[in-house]
Amino acid sequence: MYDITKVREDFPILQRKIYNRPLVYLDNGATTQKPRQVVEAMVDEYYNVNANVHRGVHFLSQQATDLHEASRETVRRFIHARSASEILFTRGTTESINLLAFSFGEAFVHEGDEILVSTMEHHSNIVPWQMMCQRKGARLKVIPISDDGLLDMEAYAQLLSEQTRLVCCTHVSNVLGTVNPVADIIRLAHQRGIPVLIDGAQSVPHMPIDVQALDCDFFAFSGHKVYGPTGVGVLYGKETWLEQLPPYQGGGEMIKTVRFEKTTYNDLPYKFEAGTPDYVATHGLAVAIDYVTALGMDNILAHEQQLTRYATQQLQQIDNMRIFGPTDHHDAVISFLVGHIHPLDLGTLLDRLGIAVRTGHHCAEPLMHRLGIEGTVRASFALYNTTAEVDALVASIRRVQQMF
Ligand code: PMP
Repeated sequence: MYDITKVREDFPILQRKIYNRPLVYLDNGATTQKPRQVVEAMVDEYYNVNANVHRGVHFLSQQATDLHEASRETVRRFIHARSASEILFTRGTTESINLLAFSFGEAFVHEGDEILVSTMEHHSNIVPWQMMCQRKGARLKVIPISDDGLLDMEAYAQLLSEQTRLVCCTHVSNVLGTVNPVADIIRLAHQRGIPVLIDGAQSVPHMPIDVQALDCDFFAFSGHKVYGPTGVGVLYGKETWLEQLPPYQGGGEMIKTVRFEKTTYNDLPYKFEAGTPDYVATHGLAVAIDYVTALGMDNILAHEQQLTRYATQQLQQIDNMRIFGPTDHHDAVISFLVGHIHPLDLGTLLDRLGIAVRTGHHCAEPLMHRLGIEGTVRASFALYNTTAEVDALVASIRRVQQMF
């Protein structure tokens, strides 16, 4: 295990006081805080290296390009992709999914076809597919869940059909913390030759990922949720699929030759990377990945699992506490409601006590609808959270409860 006191020193923001109380940051599902190493690497690149990548013969451009491409290799190693050309840099999970929805839709989806998503998807893994289905005359089909927030695998198997073109499923629910049996989901789809996209936004920060072992066809995640900068994310795709997809956006970088009569496109991964990439952010992401890798993803997983178990036990002691989602198959996210206290009120009052949680529908309105609620309060944990912070959360909820 790692030394949590030393780890926390890497994150200057954790020293802040909010309303004169120590910050307890439990909104890591929305975004994580950044270690010094990431911010300093980015400042250093702006101060000492900055030049546009790929197009320059001069020294700085070469150096910036080397950093950018080394970052791609770092991502490849981190998620165990076969080749760096299978790693596409995007602005985040949302753009990764929009890219795939457009390109996959253009190449493979026709009228009457079906796309499968699950009830617990984030809006960013629903709306791009709806838009594509509308454009193509295809239909969105929904995998149901049980009352305790587990995917109904029997219903899933039944939904797979001759019409299914793609299955899109989150690895970990950003609301319930459910860890979905993605290997089974992929295996069942592949038995029918159907490719699968995994939304890894909430899994990559918390557990080791091996896209080859999972055998997923596409995998998306965001840099800012794994201690990296905003504005950068990844779409992994198997080369055999990416080769068959048309580009998402046109512009510089993604071309081989341009004539007014005809343009030919660049090789992977550049075919999907039009325009100047956020090369400082890709470097920042690589430093973030080096940071978590040095701590050890297995150690991070063990720490967060212990913390989540402890938090669940402590929260369950509170009167009228309602925790949503499964008790096992659970990741570092806990969604709850307390009695009749509106989640917004609870969140606002917790904030006054220095505790940052998220409240509302968490960009998963269909899931809220399925659970028959408007929203929840969500505490989500990161590698730097402590049991003392969980105790502060629990004590503060009790205080708010007394006020009501
Ligand atoms: N999918 C899931 C499961 C998420 O939790 C999030 C972020 N809350 C997203 C997708 C979207 O990520 P981003 O806003 O970084 O594009």
